Amino acid sequence: MNDFEVHTSSGTKRPTHPLPQLEQVELKGMLDWLSAYGADAQGGVTRLLYDQAWCKAQHALAEKMQEKGLAPEFDQSGNLYGTLHGRGMGSGTGMEEAPIVTGSHIDTVVHGGKYDGAYGVVAGVLALEYLQKHFGAPKRTLEVVSLCEEEGSRFPFAYWGSRSITGVSGLEDVQHLKDQEGITFAQAIRDAGFGPNSSYRTASHTYGAFIELHIEQGQILERLGHSIGIVSDIVGQKRFSITVSGEANHAGTTPMSWRKDALAGAAEMITAVRNIALEAGEPLVATVGRITADPGVGNVVASRAVFSLDIRHIRQESIDRCWHNMLQEFSRIAAEQQLGLNWEEHLSVTPIPMNDQITSDIRDICEVEQLSYIHMPSGAGHDSQIFQPACPTAMIFVPSHDGISHNPLEYTAEEDLMKGFRVLVQLLYKYGYGS
Ligand SMILES: [Zn+2]
Repeated sequence: MNDFEVHTSSGTKRPTHPLPQLEQVELKGMLDWLSAYGADAQGGVTRLLYDQAWCKAQHALAEKMQEKGLAPEFDQSGNLYGTLHGRGMGSGTGMEEAPIVTGSHIDTVVHGGKYDGAYGVVAGVLALEYLQKHFGAPKRTLEVVSLCEEEGSRFPFAYWGSRSITGVSGLEDVQHLKDQEGITFAQAIRDAGFGPNSSYRTASHTYGAFIELHIEQGQILERLGHSIGIVSDIVGQKRFSITVSGEANHAGTTPMSWRKDALAGAAEMITAVRNIALEAGEPLVATVGRITADPGVGNVVASRAVFSLDIRHIRQESIDRCWHNMLQEFSRIAAEQQLGLNWEEHLSVTPIPMNDQITSDIRDICEVEQLSYIHMPSGAGHDSQIFQPACPTAMIFVPSHDGISHNPLEYTAEEDLMKGFRVLVQLLYKYGYGS
């Protein structure tokens, strides 16, 4: 914690301030307003990186920030900041002066909902407006960021916003990528008015801390009846493609015992995935979400089956052990049925624990505010996992109705949105205004 010095008396469990007129904040109204950018007829929202809806939304947000007394500024990647300048009363050493930043991402999946990402951006803008209105300029600079990209929906690259801010990736890593229409990343960023030749500053930016308010996108909070999820870790994951090879043959003339049926072997392997995951217990999850078979004909024994495998857990050793056990079982099944087996790893992301101090400050706020909360891992990836290695980072979840997300039906009740907002405001007050 030596790099995160907040201006507050540590150890106190009292709220930093009672919050006046919080209920008057127009959170739901502003979320509805933002969802009009990229709205589709089915009630969903599609804003893909640098497309027209995305550009309009990000520029409208900049205007909104200005209206609300925040200084808006874009960077070359298209990330948008709204800054509430501090009075410079920090103790003046390096990281201590870096702003406390909240926010999330503006982009969506195709036909996504209106809460994923947008909630954290809108809540951040309104939190800073609220704090300025009621308490004036903070001691320490507070910022809200509307990150340009998280989902990887247009180009095959996720977390572009946070990766470019933290310097994990630069334009040279992505410029050659193409979207479905063959437009390159370099072209798209230029057409949107960003990129190295624009007048904006470079994306690289130092944060004192990053706090992301987000919908849970799962059912845990709603099912267990809690208002707030304090994220303990963001899960690590491994993704594979598994290929099982057999022999195509006549479905009528090949006796069952003489077959080398790739699809039947794959089916047994998929059952093994489920059993091994169940045996490992929570929070391990393993998913086979896609399978293809060749030649893919109803009256021919399959010569080849390829299936996906996604394994997630908050501990790397658990992911590794689970994969090891699965691979052992796959090999046994393949040998028994005289099938070939090949596998390829596509993705390996290590689990990221969230910052202890911010996490415990969130817990204290929930206790004082009498909000029912649990500590929980995030099974989905978020920008916070990119920020945490660069600065102290924490995430606050609110319930998602029926756990539905990446879908026009995504919904969080206004009451729940407001509870998350309350926690965010208290936390920003503590870090921005605490004595
Ligand atoms: Zn999101």
